[in-house]
Amino acid sequence: MRNIDGAIGEGGGQVLRTCLALSIVTGQDFTIRNIRSSRKKPGLRPQHLNAVKIAAIISNANVYGAQQGSTQLSFSPRSIQPGKFTCEIGTAGSTALVLQTIYLPLSLLDQPSFITISGGTHAPLSPSFDFINQHWLHYLKRIGFDIQMEMVLAGFYPQGGGKIRGNIRPVKTIEPLNIPERGSLRQIRGYSGVANLDRRIAERQRNQVIHRLGSQYPLNDIRISQLPSKFKGTTVCLICEFEHSQSCYFSLGALGKPAEKVADEVCEKIEYFLSTNAVMDEYLADQLLLPLSFANGNSNFSTSKITNHLLTNAEIIRNFMNTDISIDGSAGNPGIIKITPYNQ
Ligand code: AMP
Repeated sequence: MRNIDGAIGEGGGQVLRTCLALSIVTGQDFTIRNIRSSRKKPGLRPQHLNAVKIAAIISNANVYGAQQGSTQLSFSPRSIQPGKFTCEIGTAGSTALVLQTIYLPLSLLDQPSFITISGGTHAPLSPSFDFINQHWLHYLKRIGFDIQMEMVLAGFYPQGGGKIRGNIRPVKTIEPLNIPERGSLRQIRGYSGVANLDRRIAERQRNQVIHRLGSQYPLNDIRISQLPSKFKGTTVCLICEFEHSQSCYFSLGALGKPAEKVADEVCEKIEYFLSTNAVMDEYLADQLLLPLSFANGNSNFSTSKITNHLLTNAEIIRNFMNTDISIDGSAGNPGIIKITPYNQ
């Protein structure tokens, strides 16, 4: 039984989600206390509670403490089974983060699984569906995963009401990721989307992106998109495509936030990324530690920023397995990540 202090490092939901995934894959029980102690509303919120519930279903786990607001939990997985799973978060809690809790154990089975998750698809402080579909899955496929996702309905913060579904097929081998340099910037592409709002808002977002980035960088057409949704929302998502890698950033609209500001936010992130020589954006970097810890070789790449999420996730993974993860650089600055899986 592993004892995890949820207050470690970032002290957020990722500590719990990574523990759930690793517990199921390695068959180790764990208890966690101080769940999300660094957050304004600590303990299990709907997204985390649903991540626990679906993790328990796929692994036939015995669980204690799975109630909303709970700051302690114990989790004992038994056997993992593939199947058809449905999860309803009931708020704008992130569907992407629930998906990221269960995709790894399900991918390691020899039968496919089908999942439907309802909740938020475009919420702050979590990957948007576009980030997942265009970027996270791009890299997961590159290292051997076979996952396909679609968004049936967009669910913007704060109302939610979104739905994603997809197939998780067996992974044959997880390949390591070695990208010494990103190479030259080929293009920046992406889209400006609205749900149940005037198309002109999406056009203003796009025009501001063109104004900010168009003269300096190879900016491709920014698509305008009307997203199916029960509620209103806006987003801009941009991908920088390099010779050997890509990075992805998005921003979200909010009541009273001008369209130009939504565009400015994503452009600022892109400008920072381009000012570094990094291969990987700071968000994907923390999300790839988990799958690369199961690769059949050592991984090595740079990231634009060493975040608390990255440092914390590395610590949790080291705690569960003998994976050697080294992160060279100082917090808040670019750095180099090296991952030596436990079986190498
Ligand atoms: P936590 O705050 O512990 O629940 O973890 C949040 C997770 O969401 C981390 O893996 C972050 O990298 C990820 N995340 C937060 N913001 C973004 C973003 N803008 N784009 C992509 N991923 C994000």
